[in-house]
Amino acid sequence: MGKVAVVTGGTRGIGEAISLQLKAKGYRVAANYGGNDEAAQKFQAETGIPVHKWDVGDYDGCAAGLKAVEKELGPIEIVVNNAGITRDGMLHKLTPEKWNDVIRVDLNSMFNMTHPIIEGMRSRNWGRIINISSVNGQKGQMGQSNYSAAKAGVIGFTKALAQETARKGITVNCIAPGYINTEMVAAVPEKVLESIIAQIPVGRLGAADEIAKCVAFLASDDGAFITGSTISANGGQYMTS
Ligand code: NDP
Repeated sequence: MGKVAVVTGGTRGIGEAISLQLKAKGYRVAANYGGNDEAAQKFQAETGIPVHKWDVGDYDGCAAGLKAVEKELGPIEIVVNNAGITRDGMLHKLTPEKWNDVIRVDLNSMFNMTHPIIEGMRSRNWGRIINISSVNGQKGQMGQSNYSAAKAGVIGFTKALAQETARKGITVNCIAPGYINTEMVAAVPEKVLESIIAQIPVGRLGAADEIAKCVAFLASDDGAFITGSTISANGGQYMTS
């Protein structure tokens, strides 16, 4: 039987592509989502992948949700921390609420989703934790101090946990996507989008599937020697060592 994988925000956008890619590779996938029941039900009906609603910003909600997945599918071997939100604004106009919302969902979720399952992975001497950061966490982005801080935090979290778990057969890695063609990016005004594409050397937005394939590689045994790393999947927009 295939290994059990949980994908947060796994019913839409990049997360949907990740859920489908992992299912196609033979994993038994559970897709989490936060609030859009209609999209989640449609996704479950079309893909046969079970969906579970909980808020990744809520520790108790994550612990209960992960327990429910384990009851349904068995011990969780792969966690993909993909769920994320933006609440943009220049710092002088940013509200404490917008700051806290993004830190809660994009960064606190790392702890909330891994703390309840890490003992299990350690005891079984195998695990994969794959965290979705962002190019804007690597380079910073005007109007996104909250998002850039959270996504940079994801990279720091990844490196620390990778060191803690390496001897236990658990790898912890990040993918930092550039601009990917999803609803999150579709919300960007057309003129801004044109200027963004002009800064991408490959001359286009990325596809969700291109991120999903990076996840599948890191989840596989072929990725066993890679831990604490960040794959920059950004069309050359930002080249970092
Ligand atoms: P979408 O907005 O298309 O989808 C977000 C997903 O996250 C949805 O399934 C949503 O659930 C879920 N979600 C949001 N908040 C919560 C929450 N509190 N608890 C549980 N689930 C939640 O996002 P994308 O696919 O565009 O982005 C996915 C990830 O990739 C994010 O972390 C994002 O920051 C990152 N990223 C995206 C880029 C892009 O260009 N799109 C670029 C770089 C990084 P629901 O359907 O219920 O709302």
